[in-house]
Amino acid sequence: MAEGSKTQKVLVVGAGPVGALAALYAANRGDDVHVYELRADLRDPSTTPLNFTKSINLALSERGINSMRHSQCEGLVEEILKETIPMHARMIHGRRKGGDIYHESQEYDANGRYIQAVDRASLNKRLLGALEKLPNVTLHFNHKLTGADFNKKTAWFEQQGRIKKADHAQNPTPSDALEHDQKRATEISVTFDLLIGADGAHSATRYHLMKFARLDYQQEYIDTLWCEFHISPRSDSSFAIDPNHLHIWPGGSFMFIAIPSLDKSFTCTLFAPASHFNSVSEKPEQKLVKFFHKNFPGVCPELISTSDLQKQLRENPHLPLISIKCKPYHYKSSVVILGDAAHAMVPFYGQGMNAGLEDVRVLFDILDEHKIYDSAVPDHAARNSAREAALDEYTSRRAPDAAAINDLALRNYEEMRSSVQSPLYKMRKWMEET
Ligand code: FAD
Repeated sequence: MAEGSKTQKVLVVGAGPVGALAALYAANRGDDVHVYELRADLRDPSTTPLNFTKSINLALSERGINSMRHSQCEGLVEEILKETIPMHARMIHGRRKGGDIYHESQEYDANGRYIQAVDRASLNKRLLGALEKLPNVTLHFNHKLTGADFNKKTAWFEQQGRIKKADHAQNPTPSDALEHDQKRATEISVTFDLLIGADGAHSATRYHLMKFARLDYQQEYIDTLWCEFHISPRSDSSFAIDPNHLHIWPGGSFMFIAIPSLDKSFTCTLFAPASHFNSVSEKPEQKLVKFFHKNFPGVCPELISTSDLQKQLRENPHLPLISIKCKPYHYKSSVVILGDAAHAMVPFYGQGMNAGLEDVRVLFDILDEHKIYDSAVPDHAARNSAREAALDEYTSRRAPDAAAINDLALRNYEEMRSSVQSPLYKMRKWMEET
């Protein structure tokens, strides 16, 4: 922010769901917002999402929906919800001692509340589309954060290819946006008032923040890998299994889940210990089918053909799961990390993205409480010190909550893969309900 100027220059690093929402909150408060994203524009059909094969279906809950509702973007939540499928309950698939297959629906909420299945990429595209409509936002794709000096409030980015700029003076619609071809991998330096790091679990912002703040940091790779599978629609284009459930095949030390998609398919995930994964992958086709038949009854060949199962296990990546806790989330008035950058969690509580979206709402509530956007703030120095106090408060309020969600996520793995089948669990549920 230039001396005397009331407008803050905010850099958002990472245009995933959390970074895109943070940029919307800042832009709707009048900040000059620049979003720097490592990858090409997700809306470009040739862009393959980082780490994911094609798409990933997530459970969107009230925590995330409410945070998007507060973004001040009219119609945004309604547009996003139109592209979701309600999941009222989880469906447990298993085999009784005698060998019979059973399916048991377990409601999520006694009052009928539910979670929504959403395609992460579609949600992200909606947020980017809303951002592009705002005149005070510039999107810089193919820009990788490579360095930062949080005392001098300067960041360095490596330009990987093209930048895409929404230039509203000349191009009133997103489709008219300018595209400039740039030379490969040149480095630029950019100054800022506030840098918001939403660059995911392997955050470069967090790495640079560690050189400035006395950051406590803890990371854990759990001994489980995940691999995506796909259940196609039936030949009459209907869902192969009930679409209003999150389907779980608990298997003790492993599990298989399926989440519905709008095209009537299901995106499925196999979670299993790394050693198990290796042995299953190496087994000949028959053994893999036997493994599925024994542990995930009704999946193969009923929902996924034997050859597809083999192909998908071979071709789709086997990815690790990381759990990260750190503190503080900020340094002075200049930087704050949000979402997976601050608290990546294992996916078993379905709250990683939801908690990241909630970070944005909590952060901006606190910035508002500290009157950062109040026109009565006399000068640049006063605004900086108010922002520093706000970021201090953000860390103190948010870090314990985020750590608790991380722990619950780890604990829910046990519940999903095993406890849901146990007689003790059923008795506890019965006692709660009666
Ligand atoms: P990301 O989505 O990782 O986005 C970070 C962005 O930063 C990326 O676009 C990346 O390209 C960019 N970036 C990285 N480095 C740089 C750099 N140096 N410079 C510039 N840009 C950079 N969550 C839920 O709420 N519900 C679920 O049901 C759920 N299920 C899940 C299932 C699985 C199998 C997994 C793996 C995760 C699941 N999650 C779920 C978690 C969810 O995917 C993440 O919490 C969420 O994507 C985090 O969003 P983010 O914006 O913080 O980070």
